[in-house]
Amino acid sequence: MRIANTGETLREILNGHDSKRVLVPTMGALHEGHLVLMRSARNVAGPRGMVIVSIFVNPIQFDRAADLEAYPKPLEEDLAACEKEGVDVVFAPQTDAMYFADRSVTVTESLLSAGLCGATRPGHFDGVCTVVLKLFLISGCNAAVFGEKDFQQLAIIRRMIRDLDVPVKIIECPTVREHDGLAMSSRNVRLTSAQRADAPRIQRSLLAAAQCNDIPQILEIARAGIEASPLTCIDYLLLVDAETLQPATTLKRQAVLAVAVFYGDVRLIDHVII
Ligand code: AMP
Repeated sequence: MRIANTGETLREILNGHDSKRVLVPTMGALHEGHLVLMRSARNVAGPRGMVIVSIFVNPIQFDRAADLEAYPKPLEEDLAACEKEGVDVVFAPQTDAMYFADRSVTVTESLLSAGLCGATRPGHFDGVCTVVLKLFLISGCNAAVFGEKDFQQLAIIRRMIRDLDVPVKIIECPTVREHDGLAMSSRNVRLTSAQRADAPRIQRSLLAAAQCNDIPQILEIARAGIEASPLTCIDYLLLVDAETLQPATTLKRQAVLAVAVFYGDVRLIDHVII
């Protein structure tokens, strides 16, 4: 496995490899959810293709400095996990290798980003689109793998690909969960043991709500289940149309019940399809 810290080094390593290149963009602190993405990348790349994992805690997608500061960065363990998965190249740049101090170009998606995480985390998806497009260009990948866990991010990246004619195929992987149903997240390690024990209520509440067929009732059941704990604070809870991401007005079309919940200063997201 090779490691590149700059775009130049990554291009040198990949130079001459005409086989398929599949990118898995991550912010590190790798867990089983990320490993599933890497396996899917290998499936697509084939044994002779290149699987590239990027590990970069992208500062421009963080709306809270404290969240960026507290984000776990266990690089040595991450590299070992990538090696074990048979990754060909890890791209792990520092911030100054990704951004000029006076950078002045940003990619903005302005429709699907308006609600959900985009509404409560201003600038977040501009940061995501900008870094993802840069990673596509630096790696010259033909395909890239993303988790369905971040379904709004996935929808926005698909829109960016469509609207900017980016020649990258997007591959989607289902959400990987802990045994008790909590969606795996790099932020889970920041939960106290009491918060961690409580957190499976997020998925439980969403699944209970999904049994109903009335929009106000769905929202009420999910809210009541999550707010029954004194440890939670809901950032948003919304039922949105799966395609437009606008608030759902009917259950005749596929909808997504999505939530962001704070446990202390740790923010977790989850959703169910209805
Ligand atoms: P992150 O490192 O959190 O930025 O995530 C990197 C990629 O891993 C994104 O495409 C996420 O959607 C995906 N991912 C994160 N957690 C999970 C999970 N529990 N299951 C599946 N994919 C995930």
